[in-house]
Amino acid sequence: MFMSIVNADETKITDTGLPKELERSTLCLPDVPESEVVRHYTNLASKNFGVDNGPYPLGSCTMKYNPKYADRISSLEKFTDVHPYQDESTVQGILELMYDAERKLAAIAGMDSVTLQPAAGAHGEFTAMLIVRAYHNDNNEERDEVIIPDSAHGTNPASAAMAGYKVIELPSAPDGSVDLNALKAAVSSRTAAFMLTNPNTLGIFEKNIVKISEIVHGAGALMYYDGANLNAIMGVTTPGDMNFDIVHFNVHKTFAAPHGGGGPGSGPVGVKKRFAKYLPSPTIKKVKEKYVLAHNEKSIGKIRSFYGNLNVVLRGYAYILRMGSEGLKDATVRAVLNSNYLKELLKEDYDIPFGDLKKHEFVLSASGLKREKGIKAMDIAKRMIDHHIHPPTVYFPMLVDESMMFEPTEDCSLKELDMIADVLIKIANEDPDIVINAPHRSPVSRVDETKAAKDMILSVRYMKKKEQQ
Ligand SMILES: *Cc1c(COP(=O)(O)O)cnc(C)c1O
Repeated sequence: MFMSIVNADETKITDTGLPKELERSTLCLPDVPESEVVRHYTNLASKNFGVDNGPYPLGSCTMKYNPKYADRISSLEKFTDVHPYQDESTVQGILELMYDAERKLAAIAGMDSVTLQPAAGAHGEFTAMLIVRAYHNDNNEERDEVIIPDSAHGTNPASAAMAGYKVIELPSAPDGSVDLNALKAAVSSRTAAFMLTNPNTLGIFEKNIVKISEIVHGAGALMYYDGANLNAIMGVTTPGDMNFDIVHFNVHKTFAAPHGGGGPGSGPVGVKKRFAKYLPSPTIKKVKEKYVLAHNEKSIGKIRSFYGNLNVVLRGYAYILRMGSEGLKDATVRAVLNSNYLKELLKEDYDIPFGDLKKHEFVLSASGLKREKGIKAMDIAKRMIDHHIHPPTVYFPMLVDESMMFEPTEDCSLKELDMIADVLIKIANEDPDIVINAPHRSPVSRVDETKAAKDMILSVRYMKKKEQQ
């Protein structure tokens, strides 16, 4: 590690060359050889499951394959070696690229301006709610409610509440879509915005979206598009065409950047022209062929340090350029086809509550299996692990009993779709005891997920301290 200095007695190497006061007399490290440490971590890594190991049909999360060229491009030294404090004049290339990424995202969503700053979808939602607030304040309107359908992702009500809004939950119509009469009854002069995912988390496209926008706009409120399902429509239609005012993107879902172990992500926000002045600071402007970081007078201010998660944006940008408009549309069409194909294969063995044509994801219910054999959605999910398929999203959306939400994504081949269906059909028909006690082939079986989240033990030192308590 440190350059050794050869003593006068040239057969002995003793002096590290470090100043004495920097040398440590004791080092509290586990007493194991390096080879064992390497083997330990290599074996641990092979126990992990990711998109590179097998199918990952995790509904709503869009765990699609992330092309390696995007990784390679984003890790070029030209990108990783710049410092956020560098003067604008020295990072013109990066600013140009960010400017162009904003333009491309705006075109994909039918918006006019985009900020790349938010660090994830949820952060994008929160940023958008601050924009909604700034807009209404500007118009001297006091609106304190945000309406959200009961099929929405949990981050929607959380973001609205964090921005200080009262959340009004809208019950879905029997077909799983927005109930127009319920919406008409819910909107008022107190409504600041309607947060909608389209297609929604049941994979249902809102046929009445234009009417929905009219009702919401008619009450003076704004339409917010949760873009987590944008991969179901990109290249075919846009939230802009549906009269949404503000959208967020999940670069780590729609545009093939890895989710990472819960992060980092990137949740850019796009807006129609009249909301551009509220976008967070800084915004990138092009002035006489130069790119500058600007601050809008009416901006909601800073929402994150520096430029956002640029490295994630770069992966998405590389993907968008490589795919082009036609490629993005093709990805959408395949994602929708794959989802419907898988759903059709499963309809004899599982309940499908909202069974007709879906977009990129669909929801099955295990309630029949629970009634007849005592098998729950969680048991099926765990049994899938034995077959090297990542479980779907379970118990969400909550309006479906024993829900299992599948999103096979566009990169799933016909062979893989057939394999997933075979496994699921086998599970539905096998000895319930095997399913209820699954998984049988994983290093750990059923873990206490709540305890894992609430009582994290992240170091040996902390574990020892806990043991002593
Ligand atoms: C994933 C998701 C979000 C939140 O996005 P994050 O990037 O995970 O914060 C919001 N809405 C829906 C429908 C989602 O699937």
